[in-house]
Formats: sequence, structure tokens, C-alpha cells
Amino acid sequence: MDPIDSLIAGYRNFRRGSYQENAERYRLLAARQQRPKAMIVCCCDSRADPALILDADPGELFVVRNVANLIPPYQPDGQYHGTSAALEFGITGLEIGDVIVMGHAHCGGIAALLDAENGRAPKGEFIGAWMSLVEEVATNVKARTPHGSREELLRGMEHEAVLRSMAMLRTFPFVREREAAGKLRIHGWFFGIATGELSIYDARLDRFVNVPDVEASRKS
Ligand SMILES: [Zn+2]
Repeated sequence: MDPIDSLIAGYRNFRRGSYQENAERYRLLAARQQRPKAMIVCCCDSRADPALILDADPGELFVVRNVANLIPPYQPDGQYHGTSAALEFGITGLEIGDVIVMGHAHCGGIAALLDAENGRAPKGEFIGAWMSLVEEVATNVKARTPHGSREELLRGMEHEAVLRSMAMLRTFPFVREREAAGKLRIHGWFFGIATGELSIYDARLDRFVNVPDVEASRKS
């Protein structure tokens, strides 16, 4: 089937199914300002869809997607900063209290960064400059694991790039202020694609830890 025809067929399924079942919810969502639970910055990659992974309903997630889920530094220079505009609106406009940076395995942007580090700059006019936001990640990971396989280097870079983005998020004054006041939390997450597993960065352990499939019983 033509790819566009298959998407339109999917839309018709949505209209007959999920939309019909949730028509009242959609009407209420349209009647008032959105109040998402969290903001998530994730990759454009078609295999790492946050709403699907988190089983989130319409209105629950404020999503920004860009190549390799990067956050640029605070740079109020009048240029076209799409991710920064979304951060500003989500955090200062919608007053979202949790921002998640979600990386993923097999990221094409990170692979382009490793290739550039190895002397093969990406073709095209934009990806190289965009990925240079985290270029020190390639140098750091290569220095730490000089004999690592390509897969090991990529995984290490994918993880570290999430941490770099979390650090760059803190260059925004409105983020720093809200975090210091206890009004904003910043989270680093990672999705494995093949395994379907989500892991969360634990600052005390300084590593990503898998989320158990079943909630542990709480100690009283
Ligand atoms: Zn990616």
C-alpha cells in the first residue's frame, strides 16, 4: 500500500475507534488550556515514540522532538531556536514541573557524531553543526573506553549526551530559578528499542538503572 494511503487508513481507524471512545475527553481538552503532566525532549526517531512507550493519553505529554534529543545552551540572540522556544513555553507558560530528556539506543544522530569524530563528517548542511553541540561526548567516551567496540562507544555516547543535555537545560535562567525553588525537576531517561526497556539516570550511582516491569511493594 502507498505509505500515505496507509496513514490515511490509520486515521480512519482512529476516527471510528479511539476518537469515538474518547470524544468527550477530546472535547474537554479543546475547551481549556492544556495541562500536561510533563515535558519530554526526545529524538525524531520513529522507533522511540514517548506516548506509546509511556502509554500516555492526549493532553498528558508536552513533547519536543529533535535529532538526538539535544538541548542547546541558553542563547537569546534572536535566531530560530525551536527547542528553546518549546522549553520557554512549556516551563514558563504551562508551568510544567518535570522535564525529561529521553535518549534512545541506535540513535542516528549519535552515530553521525561518532563518524565525524572518526573523520567522516556527515553529508548535508545542518546535522553536523547540530550534533557539534555535544561533540565533547565523543571525545570523552573514546578516552574512557579506548578499546570499546563501535556499539559500546555508541551506547556510552547516547547515555552521556542525555547528561550533557540536562546540563545545558540548566543554562536557562528560568530553569535554574525554578529548580532552585523546588518547582522543577529534571530527569534523564533512556529507551532501549530492541528490549523495550526504559532506564532512568540515578545521580547517586551515576548510571542509568532499568525500571522494573512491576512496581516494587512500598515499605511502610
Ligand atoms: Zn535518535
